[in-house]
Amino acid sequence: MPMTPLDHALFRRMPKIALHDHLLGTIGCATFQALARARGAAITDDEIADLYDPAKKLGAMRVLRVLETQVLREPADFHRITYEYLAGHAAQGVRHAEIFWNPTPSVADAAAYARLLSGITAAMADAQADHAITALVLPSIDREAPPEAALAMVEWMIARPDPRAIGIGIDYNENKGPPELFTAAYALAGRHGLKRTAHAGEFGCPAAHIRTALRDLAVERLDHCYTALEEPDLCREIADRGVVITVVPTNTYYRRTLPPERWAEDHPIRRMPAAGLAIHPNTDDPPIHHIDPEGCWAMMHEAFGFGAADIRQFMLNGIEGAFVDAGTKAAWRKLFTAEFDALLQEIAP
Ligand SMILES: [Zn+2]
Repeated sequence: MPMTPLDHALFRRMPKIALHDHLLGTIGCATFQALARARGAAITDDEIADLYDPAKKLGAMRVLRVLETQVLREPADFHRITYEYLAGHAAQGVRHAEIFWNPTPSVADAAAYARLLSGITAAMADAQADHAITALVLPSIDREAPPEAALAMVEWMIARPDPRAIGIGIDYNENKGPPELFTAAYALAGRHGLKRTAHAGEFGCPAAHIRTALRDLAVERLDHCYTALEEPDLCREIADRGVVITVVPTNTYYRRTLPPERWAEDHPIRRMPAAGLAIHPNTDDPPIHHIDPEGCWAMMHEAFGFGAADIRQFMLNGIEGAFVDAGTKAAWRKLFTAEFDALLQEIAP
């Protein structure tokens, strides 16, 4: 029997957590162009616009590297992009966000790290006051840089601790930087009480990367992890450890490699909950993927066929996976489920 479609208002208004957005990937085109002009960066408005054009993906890496090294130079730049991101997400029911930020390409020492971080954390405080959204930042290892740079990033975090810089992640091209290169950085973070998550099993990368992240990097959360499906034992291990997986419905790898007519049918996200995996949908690089929280959560229903009970569980998975204390999680579970159930009643056909 075909499912009765859920009203889009549910996805917009339901309380949500965002656990997987990259700060640099949240910048809108107009903001990027304005900041690039202000800093005299070696990039044109047209080159920047191409980053947001799905038909022109080729120069994306160069544009992002210019953004990191020439455009975002001042705490005020980071304040602007962080605040714009949080205000936009809050307008769509996001109550808490944990954002990845790669400091390595932008700074060279602990003082410079702390200087730019101050722009991010000040914006988080302002967004909390103005839009009732809480936020944390996860400085993230640029896995295309040498492992020593990852270790240095963790050392900066230890030297200049901030309660909002709660833990670490790792991203960029997984093929160029497998997780085993970064065990020292993750061990140091763990010894200093920093939370740990990692991109693994993205771009069709081996399931072994996920096992390494789980066992050797000792992550408390995982990002992507699609290839875990190839190994049922690994799925069981992830589930037994209670590790939540952030997934990205608009993930470009599957958009590119699966045939368009089979894309939604064959996408691994569709099969992950049945394999025992606690997944949670996210927007990743929202304006670049042409997606927002409402659209992302709607895709779980409309593209992958999950019903209201599944959506409610994904919402709870987000709370479970958040790097906040047990008391906050308990309060959110109560509040979010009450709001979700009332919304479902209100919009039910
Ligand atoms: Zn990501």
